[in-house]
Amino acid sequence: MKPKIWLSSPHMGGTELNYVHEAFDTNWVAPLGPNVDNFEKDIASFLKEDVHVAALSSGTAGLHLALILLGIQPGDEVICQSMTFSATANPIAYIGAKPVFVDSEADTWNMSPQLLEAAIKDRIAKGKTPKAIIPVHLYGIPARMKEIQAIADKYDIPVIEDAAEALGSSIDGKMCGTFGAINVLSFNGNKIITTSGGGALVTHNKEIAAKARFLATQARDAAPHYQHSHIGYNYRMSNICAGIGRGQMEVLNKRIEQRRRIYDLYYSRLSKVEGISFIEEQPGCFSNRWLTTILVDPVKTNGVTREDVRLALEKENIESRPLWKPMHLQPVFEGAPFYGDGTSEKLFNDGLCLPSGSNLTDDDMNRIFEVMDGLLK
Ligand SMILES: *Cc1c(COP(=O)(O)O)cnc(C)c1O
Repeated sequence: MKPKIWLSSPHMGGTELNYVHEAFDTNWVAPLGPNVDNFEKDIASFLKEDVHVAALSSGTAGLHLALILLGIQPGDEVICQSMTFSATANPIAYIGAKPVFVDSEADTWNMSPQLLEAAIKDRIAKGKTPKAIIPVHLYGIPARMKEIQAIADKYDIPVIEDAAEALGSSIDGKMCGTFGAINVLSFNGNKIITTSGGGALVTHNKEIAAKARFLATQARDAAPHYQHSHIGYNYRMSNICAGIGRGQMEVLNKRIEQRRRIYDLYYSRLSKVEGISFIEEQPGCFSNRWLTTILVDPVKTNGVTREDVRLALEKENIESRPLWKPMHLQPVFEGAPFYGDGTSEKLFNDGLCLPSGSNLTDDDMNRIFEVMDGLLK
């Protein structure tokens, strides 16, 4: 069996261990310390704005805290992009709030502004104004943040930006992760950079950031004994993980370049194949191309489906994966309100994520293309 080619695996730059050693040498082996402080500064400066960053144990923790910090209560409704990883929607359930799912648009695969407004109007007509809106930048492709923000402003609803897949993506030069009232990043093992596991909450509001750090460290009031007037969480990033993050930040721009090159290789090789299509950047938008994705239209490929492609790759020990299965089709969210026109369901049926790691070699790419060429003449 040839070695496994992964969808997206960790890619160390080489300096990460220096920061980890430093943590050991100074005994900062704790969920706080200089690596955490400096990692937060590195992220803020990468985002090119006056933002405050709280490094956390995961992106999911960031989304949970974001909902708490916006005052979401049990029974409140929260609008969420349907086509996404379940981690976007689960924190709504942690709180006992109710997700209302909105479909994607074909151009960005992200939340449709038109359907968002239709959903808000209908929820208000039914007697409940949604308390937050969570758009996602799937696979690093920016959502239509300007249009979404304009609608959010019109109805005075805060936006939580799930930028877990979009570190380094931007719209008219403004970085993803800086658009919402609260924004969330992820450094899980498969993301564009990783801390092995981790995330961050990003906000322009200093008080919100301070409160996020407070809640993430068990909500300890200022007192010599342990005193609590809030329910707290253990959500801070460890100083060891932040050390990995510091090294990864040194190579982030290189990783973006490498992922974009992988996309270009796929595009130049496959875009002319009948029935295969790619998602392009919208005007003014820049994508980190976290994962390269294709749509496979069996009507035009002589019957070859995305599942045929996936299985053929799997046979050669190459990992690929269908696009995210929309939340409104997930058994766990059965019965949740959904506003859609079938777009995300169609994308899910035809879409495939291809191996996209920045560490793929030319040999790896040749193995992948060999399978694709054999299948799609
Ligand atoms: C990875 C991911 C998350 C969750 O991040 P974790 O750090 O794994 O908890 C949330 N939303 C999206 C869209 C993601 O891809």
